[in-house]
Amino acid sequence: MEFDKITVPEEGEPVEVVDADTSEFEVPDTPIIPILYGDGIGTDVGPAAQQVLDAAAQATGRDIAWMRMYAGESAREKYGENLPEDTVEAIRTFRIAFKGPLTTPVGSGFRSLNVALRQRLDTYANVRPTYHLDGVPSPVSNPEQMDMVTFRENTEDVYAGIEWEHDSDEVEEVREFVEKEMGFDDTIHDGPVGIGVKPITEFGTKRLVRRAIDYALEHDRDSVTLVHKGNIMKFTEGQFRDWGYEVAEEEYGDEVITEDTLWEERDGEQPDDAVVVNDRIADNMLQQVLTRTDQYDVLATMNLNGDYISDACGAQIGGLGIAPGANFGDALCLAEPVHGSAPKYAGQDKVNPTAMILSGVIMLEYMGWDDAAELARDAVEATISSKMVTYDLHRQIEGGEKLKTSEFADEIVENIETLA
Ligand code: NAD
Repeated sequence: MEFDKITVPEEGEPVEVVDADTSEFEVPDTPIIPILYGDGIGTDVGPAAQQVLDAAAQATGRDIAWMRMYAGESAREKYGENLPEDTVEAIRTFRIAFKGPLTTPVGSGFRSLNVALRQRLDTYANVRPTYHLDGVPSPVSNPEQMDMVTFRENTEDVYAGIEWEHDSDEVEEVREFVEKEMGFDDTIHDGPVGIGVKPITEFGTKRLVRRAIDYALEHDRDSVTLVHKGNIMKFTEGQFRDWGYEVAEEEYGDEVITEDTLWEERDGEQPDDAVVVNDRIADNMLQQVLTRTDQYDVLATMNLNGDYISDACGAQIGGLGIAPGANFGDALCLAEPVHGSAPKYAGQDKVNPTAMILSGVIMLEYMGWDDAAELARDAVEATISSKMVTYDLHRQIEGGEKLKTSEFADEIVENIETLA
């Protein structure tokens, strides 16, 4: 294992894939886990999360050998480039990794490093669990009803990056093709235009939906909802729904039934142990997550809808400071919070590290360290319940104590020691 500027820790061992088909791992007691703090507040929340995960691992008889890697600003300083091959190779080699946010300038400059990383690693499922922790302030009356996991397709849709800038030769070529060859001669307004292409493939859809159904079966969830805007975008979003149902009907036997079958053949009575697959139009879904929160479980979405819906769900459980996530490929996990690099708070030891810590919790679960994961989550909940919180929650909690990022992490570690 040779890297240019990454130092592999001597004391740990790599996570081994024992069965590539089932993504089965063997995780040693001291695994080497690559960590990328990222830009902006990444340098605040990264070390805080690391400290909490270390404490949870040690309290359950294990350890983590962290291995620092670099992208964004840290990579520009060290390598003179944004996304060094070292970093991509480190994640590919060690299979389970942890990252903070990376800054992407809007409009101009370089393309999103996050999107580039996801595409190069083929981490096709962006998984965002949204559940409520006791004591976290919420804008809704019954936040505890929110317990959904969004499986958001990560490699296609408008995020695949196939788009052309206005006034470029390319965009005029595409306009001409669309107007003259495809017959849409009266659709695009005259004058400058930007054009993007939205590919939705059978391959991309089916592997994402499979992953969502597998998760629902493994975690005893009742339903998987395919979210789409297929009434308008029939051949992309509508096809996503159809391919999703195909997976459900053709690959899972009695374990999975569709909502239609449930009503046509069983009068709405859901058999124990079966997962029901249904579908909802995306705009309706944004209402349903608010008005019928407890009726949804696992959501399978394309990229853009998944971004909107998981943020809306996240708002109900405390917002960006809380919402965790992880990107999964085959036998690969890159855990990262939903939030970005919030540059105006960078380096102030101020923001909430909960989202980063709970992303680490997803990683621990994936490693099979369920006891450590539960301990870390419980300790975060105990800390927030005792009203010791960072600034974002403090302004919403009466009588709370405002802590810095690092003080909040110290408090969680103390709770881990008490709860262990
Ligand atoms: P952002 O998530 O960085 O911040 C938006 C606001 O949310 C902040 O101003 C702050 O008020 C709040 N917030 C975010 N994280 C918080 C935390 N941990 N604790 C408390 N409050 C928190 O979103 P943005 O401002 O749209 O994006 C900033 C940069 O981050 C952009 O360059 C964007 O491209 C990038 N980004 C990266 C990722 C990623 O790396 N996965 C995700 C989203 C955005």
